Amino acid sequence: MMDQDEGMRSAAKSGWFSSLFRSIAGSNAALEMSDLDPALKALKDRLMTKNVAEEIAEKLCESVAASLVGKKLGSFTRISSSVQAAMEDALVRILTPRRSIDVLRDVHAAKERGTPYVIVFVGVNGVGKSTNLAKVAYWLRQHDLTVMLAACDTFRSGAVEQLRTHARRLQIPIFEKGYERDPAVVAKGAIQEATRNKSDVVLVDTAGRMQDNEPLMRALSKLINLNNPDLVLFVGEALVGNDAVDQLTKFSQKLTDLSTAPTARSIDGILLTKFDTIDDKVGAALSMVYVSGAPVMFVGCGQSYTDLKKLNVKSIVNTLLE
Ligand code: GDP
Repeated sequence: MMDQDEGMRSAAKSGWFSSLFRSIAGSNAALEMSDLDPALKALKDRLMTKNVAEEIAEKLCESVAASLVGKKLGSFTRISSSVQAAMEDALVRILTPRRSIDVLRDVHAAKERGTPYVIVFVGVNGVGKSTNLAKVAYWLRQHDLTVMLAACDTFRSGAVEQLRTHARRLQIPIFEKGYERDPAVVAKGAIQEATRNKSDVVLVDTAGRMQDNEPLMRALSKLINLNNPDLVLFVGEALVGNDAVDQLTKFSQKLTDLSTAPTARSIDGILLTKFDTIDDKVGAALSMVYVSGAPVMFVGCGQSYTDLKKLNVKSIVNTLLE
């Protein structure tokens, strides 16, 4: 006759009972890197198909791994679910602004002080800088604020006319001094004019420039140092993949390096354009926030003035992980 314990032991040596026993015992062991590797690799690939820049997908997976190695999983918890949950936490943390910038509140605060609130729009040509500047103007006007545009792209021919067209359509005043002027001085003139006529906000258009173009970056840095705007908004396309990292890193690095202000200025926020054209490839939002530490404050989602939204963090995270 076998006693009960012996019976259990013999059953444990074979069949489903044995495998169940092992899987429960296994799930109580601390996680090792090798356990996580396959799930992390799959997740990295998924992020990259959503247009997250490769180096950022890689770094995110490393931080998820670091948060899980050595942890014990609860019984029947799948490794892939734990990896997914840890990644979700990381993504929400990155995309949720550390300091929230409430433009409308800050505009009202500036108004109380009797000064216009100044936003400088920066970014590479063709990304939708002037169109989205006009959308922000429209949005501010919807909130009963008075706006003035400042045509400080004195470099690219046609830029002033383009901004004038938006100003005319929106019936908003524009401050312009033509081309070949120092944009820093034009911006200063616009702010003085806005102070005189009590405009609430000045939106400054600047020449689109490549992050590698030293003279243009220097001119932009001068404009920012001379005028100390309330907000420097980087306008970037949601269409970019790996290039998003290069553009933004160099842009903010150059601005910081060239800054002559006591506390160096860089990019305060991001306006992500052409979001309507990317389907589920929402990775640029993540890449840009990751490299700059600046929040996505506006999302451009079409060609008309009403096509401006706030970033929906939850929806971005869900899209990245689905
Ligand atoms: P800039 O050179 O950066 O000032 O770019 P523009 O403002 O001239 O925009 C370039 C093109 O992108 C224009 O055809 C715009 O209509 C288009 N555009 C700008 N924003 C958006 C957007 O959010 N969605 C889409 N689909 N097109 C946009």
